[in-house]
This record gives sequence, structure tokens and C-alpha cells, in this order.
Amino acid sequence: GVSACGGNDREGDTSTGGDTGAAASGFAKDALIGVALPSKTSENWVLAGDLFTNGLKEAGFKSDVQYAGASTTVADQQAQITAMVTKGAKVIVIGATDAAQLSTQVAAAKQAGATVIAYDRLITNTKDVDYYIAFDNFKVGQLQGQALLDGMKAKKATGPWTIELFSGSPDDNNAGVFFNGAMDVLKPLIDKGEVVVGSGQKEVKQTATQGWKAENAQSRMDSLLNSTYTSKTLDGVLSPNDTLARAIITSVKGAGKPIPVVTGQDSEVESVKSIMAGEQYSTINKDTRKLVAETINMVKTLQTGAKPQVNDEKSYNNGSKVVPAYLLPPVIVTKANAAEAYANDPKLSAIAK
Ligand code: BGC
Repeated sequence: GVSACGGNDREGDTSTGGDTGAAASGFAKDALIGVALPSKTSENWVLAGDLFTNGLKEAGFKSDVQYAGASTTVADQQAQITAMVTKGAKVIVIGATDAAQLSTQVAAAKQAGATVIAYDRLITNTKDVDYYIAFDNFKVGQLQGQALLDGMKAKKATGPWTIELFSGSPDDNNAGVFFNGAMDVLKPLIDKGEVVVGSGQKEVKQTATQGWKAENAQSRMDSLLNSTYTSKTLDGVLSPNDTLARAIITSVKGAGKPIPVVTGQDSEVESVKSIMAGEQYSTINKDTRKLVAETINMVKTLQTGAKPQVNDEKSYNNGSKVVPAYLLPPVIVTKANAAEAYANDPKLSAIAK
């Protein structure tokens, strides 16, 4: 995860290019731009691929947009990045499938003179990542934690409230950041006993959902319901995204229990429908159109030889360096503000009326 630097910061080591690499001289206006995305674990990734293909074309670049496969994700993505380097890509945009498994590939990219942009997910334990662009992940977690509390208070004015915690895939750096953001809000209340984690499972290791897979969250929820909630009431579930939120709700319905307050993220179509129907409580709007457009802006800036704009140079220590980041603000969405939040999204505004 994003951690304090463990003393391996090699200030002044320029052997891999560092920040003074490809940006200095720019590159051809029709250069090849590589985009390596993870497997399609949520709708945002599907959308991003199309937006990159079209947006890069419109901007005059050649593009190579690839997804890691569904099962052999790490090896697939490593091979795809290597192929992009071989083909002479000038910028490689990466949504990492496993944050810690790309150091060899990004080192090769830097050596070949490419700029490496970590997209949505940080790449860890390497100096060879130039920029990070994402929504503010810690803020996403804080918004989820606050929504969970708000939703539970609306149903039952005073505590203690009983909850369960779910987190994302441990190989995705975001999973820990979302969880820490949520715990930043929830922990003080847990410490006071106002919020109780029914199962006692509070560590990110216990709450993890390998591969962000719905079936993994569903089976963990099934076993929590069978062990901890045979007679106890479950008031809320912290879910890190929409896919997992729907899996959790499916589990609860299958057990014939009332649906607790469940958070989410990504504004997936089925979850926005669920929110409007009063089932899932909240989601987060991270407009993929904006994130891709800002990434393409970065590429255009690099093309001219200038330095792309960043707005955060402290939050994302990847274990080897602090990666300069451009962070966009996430928006919390509940039934109450859905119409407003999706007003300029043709697909979602039709649902959130
Ligand atoms: C993204 C989330 C997404 C998750 C699973 C994360 O890295 O930030 O938006 O829900 O991956 O695909």
C-alpha cells in the first residue's frame, strides 16, 4: 500500500531517468501511446478502454489499448507493456492489475525513453513511474465511511450500530487507500463502541476481496450471516465498490434478511438502479470521461516537451519515490442527490430521475 518510505529513497540516482526523462524533448504528434488496463472488474474499465481509443485517435496519436485477461492477469499485462515498449510507445498509461509486479516492465519503458503514467491505480516499489492520475482515493474512502454512518443514523437515530467491513483486492494499491480513508471516519466511533464490527474482522487482510470478484464478497457475506447474524441485526456494510455492494445485497436477500445500509463506488448502472429502488444506499461518482480526458491532456503536454500539471506531490509514496499526482475530486451519491449528480451523464440521468 501507500506507505511511508522505508529508507530506500535513492535521491540523486539518475540511472533510470527519474523525473528528467522523456518529457524534456517531446515527441512526434502522431506517436504511439500505449494503454494497459487491468481486467474488466468493473464498468469503469470497460468505459476507459473505449474512451482512450477514441480520444487518442481524435488527438492525432496512434494507440494500442490492451486489457489484461480475466485469469492470467499479471503475466498478460507484463507482456502487453513489453510489447508497447518494443513498438516504440512514447507514453505508456497503466492501470495496474498488480501494483507491485510491474517494476521490470516500467524500467524497460523508461530506458527506451517512454514516460510512464499510472492511471487510477498506483504502481509500487519502483522509481520508474513518472506521474499518477486518479480520483482522490483516500477521499473516496472517507466519503464511503461518512455515507455509511449517515445512512445508519437515518434508519436508527442512536447507536450502537453493528457493521461489517469489506475491502478490495490486496494487489490493487487503491484497496488499502479506500479502506484507510473509510477507517479515518469509522475508527473513532469503533473505538468509542458506538459502531461495532459484529464479526470483529477489522484488519484489511480479513476484509479483502481477492481480484475484486463479486463471488468472493458474496461468499464472505454468506458466511458472516451464517455465523454472526443468526439472531443479531446487521445495520451497515462498508463495501468498497458497486460490484461488491450488489454481491453483498444478493447474499443478504438470499438469507432472507433485511438489507443493511451498503456503500459502493463507480456509479455502475445496476447500482444506480438499486439506489433509486432504495436498496443500495450510496455510490461514488468518479466520472471516467473526465479521468481519461485529463490523462490525454497529460499526453498532449508531454508531446510538446512540457511538464504536465500535478496537484499533489505528497500523498503517493510508492515505496521508492513520491509519485507526482493529479487528483480529481470524487462525489458521493445517494438517492437524495442522484438526479443532480448525474445531470450531465446521459446514461445515468435517465435512471436517476
Ligand atoms: C478502482 C475502482 C474499481 C476497482 C475494481 C479500483 O482500482 O479505483 O473504481 O471499483 O478498482 O475494478
